[in-house]
Amino acid sequence: MRGGEREQLPVQLEQIGWWSEQWLARVLDRAPLQFDRACDRWRGLHRAAQATANAQHAVTLDASRSQESKREARRLYREAIAQLELLTASTGPSSQSDFYSYRYMASEGFLPGYNFPRLPLAAYIPGGAGRRDARDEYVQRPRFLAITEFGPRSIIYHEGARYLVNKVILPIPAPGEEDAIASERAKLCGACGYLHHIEQGGGPDLCERCGTLLDQPLTELLRLQNVSTKRRDRINSDEEERQRQGYEIRTAVQFAETDGRVWSRVGDALGRDEQPVARLDYGQAARIWRVNFGWRRRKNKELLGFVLDTERGYWQRNDQAADDPEDPMSGRAKRVIPFVEDHRNCLLLAPTQELSEAQMASLQAALKRGIQAVFQLEEQEIAAEPLPTDQLRRLLLLFESAEGGAGVLRRLLDDPGKLAEVAREALSICHFDPDSGTDLSHAPGVSEHCEAACYDCLLSYGNQRDHRLLDRQQIRDVLLALAAGSVRASATSASATGHLETLEARADSSLERRLIELLATEGRRLPSDSQKLIDGAGCRLDFLYGDQYVAVFVDGPHHDVTDQRERDRLADLRLEDAGYTVIRFHHAADWRALLDEHRWVFGEADRS
Ligand SMILES: [Zn+2]
Ligand SMILES: [Zn+2]
Repeated sequence: MRGGEREQLPVQLEQIGWWSEQWLARVLDRAPLQFDRACDRWRGLHRAAQATANAQHAVTLDASRSQESKREARRLYREAIAQLELLTASTGPSSQSDFYSYRYMASEGFLPGYNFPRLPLAAYIPGGAGRRDARDEYVQRPRFLAITEFGPRSIIYHEGARYLVNKVILPIPAPGEEDAIASERAKLCGACGYLHHIEQGGGPDLCERCGTLLDQPLTELLRLQNVSTKRRDRINSDEEERQRQGYEIRTAVQFAETDGRVWSRVGDALGRDEQPVARLDYGQAARIWRVNFGWRRRKNKELLGFVLDTERGYWQRNDQAADDPEDPMSGRAKRVIPFVEDHRNCLLLAPTQELSEAQMASLQAALKRGIQAVFQLEEQEIAAEPLPTDQLRRLLLLFESAEGGAGVLRRLLDDPGKLAEVAREALSICHFDPDSGTDLSHAPGVSEHCEAACYDCLLSYGNQRDHRLLDRQQIRDVLLALAAGSVRASATSASATGHLETLEARADSSLERRLIELLATEGRRLPSDSQKLIDGAGCRLDFLYGDQYVAVFVDGPHHDVTDQRERDRLADLRLEDAGYTVIRFHHAADWRALLDEHRWVFGEADRS
């Protein structure tokens, strides 16, 4: 970029953390390596599906296996084939696939998101008398809405008429198969809402996120596909009430994992005096499920899901709705739990001290609004939900609505001061002075005192179910603590403190330890790995910043000898050829200046 052009930019580039003179060259240099790495998740999934298909196919041909295990093998085989078709987008229009290349590359953060429309689900609306247009039609909904709006025996309003969702459009069963329903299994952590999708075996016993003992797996989970409706003119008051109260929906999240690498990072939100206030987990392209457990208003709360005719696809009618005429069920039925899946960048926020239901609900509303204000997002661009359930609120799940997203949640982790800025904004929104915490009683320009919550602070049309819980007074202190603190991020999925200890223990020399200590005391980003051998370059790095492709060396006095200097120079060249940026900390150099110079790697110093 020429100097003249740069002067015309509205912001001073030099003040931006990620900017340096070499920025553009670096981005271009790293592109091939980054592209390669962006394909890793796809490769891992493809390999896994192929391995499953091969292994399960072998079981079906094995005469020594029981009928039972062959049936299970057929189910797994079918699932793997469906997964492979999805991965290669070999059925249906490719642009409708999750793995459509542009969509996938955006979800991996390699391409910008361009706000890809989320893949919708469709409901078939039969044409006929009474409608302006007598043709058959499909209406579409984003899948996170479709799980409720297209739920079993729910009512869809379309062009002034009512339609009942009475049927799932089932795929054609393979020859020799009883039905085409590939149901899935998973364990949800009752303590934190973490999802464990079970591909084989019984699944883990302990939650992979929080270590809590897990319950029996949910079986017969049905990935909700397109549905079909029939015209329904009358609806009784009972049905109306059931419809109004809606379904019991639970959201669960699982960080992406390929070849043993979990795509998440952890950080600590510290308050005043470095006291931990919350733990943060950031997941890139994490798997999010929304599961429909049944009507909120159902007799037996233990009974989950809905009865589905597995041959014809009809949802069994609700017993409590007497005048809901039964569809011609085939007699082959089983109880299934519908769910939808999506991949989003997400952030989990778990307060260190237990907060009440009202505090969690209020914090959720306040942080959502704070994030919207700081990053200038529309309300629907960011979602916030309680985990594990809305009766048991232990964590907040925040996720971006667009694929790839604007990257704002990642910045809450990587930028030490960003969460504090959000908290300050949230305090202002809640009518508190962000510095002193003084209650200002109402929004500017409004005369009425806001006791607990109003539409200027926590209430919105989107969170009506929570209105009875929202109370700005109850979250003043936790917001003040967040506003006075900063975030210390770890480069890995281990907690920052644990990671720091590992790095210190593995440090090869006192100089390496000194660098780690300096990074920690300045609140800078820690390396993702140490003593890492890079095969392609034939050398061992002192430290690696994996996400940024940066190799760090700490050079003691023996590096000043001519021979060694030449060896170092050649190693640097090989690393640069492989796409890495090399940063050397010479024992006599000004390390603080080096850190400042490479803020795009090490982050800003927290010198408050
Ligand atoms: Zn858990
Ligand atoms: Zn208010």
